[in-house]
Amino acid sequence: MATLAGNLMQRSRCPYFLNPDTPCNKRQPGSGCSAVEGHAERNAVLGASESCAAVHPSDLALALCAVDATVCVRGASGTRRIPVTSLHRPPGHRPELDTVLEHGELIAAVELPALPMAASARYRKVGDRASFDFALVSVAVAVDPDGDRIGDVRIAFGGLATTPWRARRAEDFLRGAPATADRFAAAALEELATARTARANAYEVGLERDVLVATLREWDDVDDGAPRA
Ligand SMILES: Cc1cc2nc3c(=O)[nH]c(=O)nc-3n(C[C@H](O)[C@H](O)[C@H](O)COP(=O)(O)OP(=O)(O)OC[C@H]3O[C@@H](n4cnc5c(N)ncnc54)[C@H](O)[C@@H]3O)c2cc1C
Ligand code: SF4
Repeated sequence: MATLAGNLMQRSRCPYFLNPDTPCNKRQPGSGCSAVEGHAERNAVLGASESCAAVHPSDLALALCAVDATVCVRGASGTRRIPVTSLHRPPGHRPELDTVLEHGELIAAVELPALPMAASARYRKVGDRASFDFALVSVAVAVDPDGDRIGDVRIAFGGLATTPWRARRAEDFLRGAPATADRFAAAALEELATARTARANAYEVGLERDVLVATLREWDDVDDGAPRA
């Protein structure tokens, strides 16, 4: 059993963060990052800094990012509203700070906008196991088709970034474009052009591209050259 706010606020699953015997800047600021020289298979390829490369673990945060949800936060100085896309902090030099919440602030509610295309939104997750496992890569997508073109689109990437990653470059690349599998793949690579990979996690770029293509192909009118049943 879990709570919605608890899921958004959950901390890293980095094995070095979870092991109190290894240096970790997120757990103990200034102690160093064991993941840089250690097992890098699950290190983030987007948003990492020299201080931390831990991926953000929440599936829910990704889905909420893609539909422009807002968290309502209550604290001693009153209430404020924060877009979910701005809730989580990239690690920078302060990886111990996961979110922009101040000490004592609580998430009191999550608001979803009346976004018509959210009704047909999809979430696709790839992991080592079919259930009870965190994502190797994932994607949240909402599309408003316009005939054989993409009218509007929202995309978020997960499993390979330090925060829930709204893929705005890919969105811009697809908005108004023909809905073809080639275009979907190019959009993913446009977003992932800034990915910084190591040998152990370079596979995530191609995997995320394929997951985005597979998810977008689920909408009608996609011209992928394949014969229709
Ligand atoms: C084996 C395993 C597999 C999992 N797999 C996945 C997965 O695939 N995908 C996924 O998304 N999650 C996964 N989870 C995470 C799980 O679903 C929970 O969301 C997560 O552990 C947080 O638990 P919780 O919701 O009970 O929050 P808690 O443990 O109660 O809280 C988590 C953090 O949030 C803070 N918090 C709680 N409520 C608030 C609030 N209202 N305002 C501000 N801060 C708050 C707490 O102080 C704490 O720091 C997995 C967990 C386990 C143990
Ligand atoms: S990647 Fe981040 S969480 Fe993992 S060991 Fe380095 S500082 Fe700690």
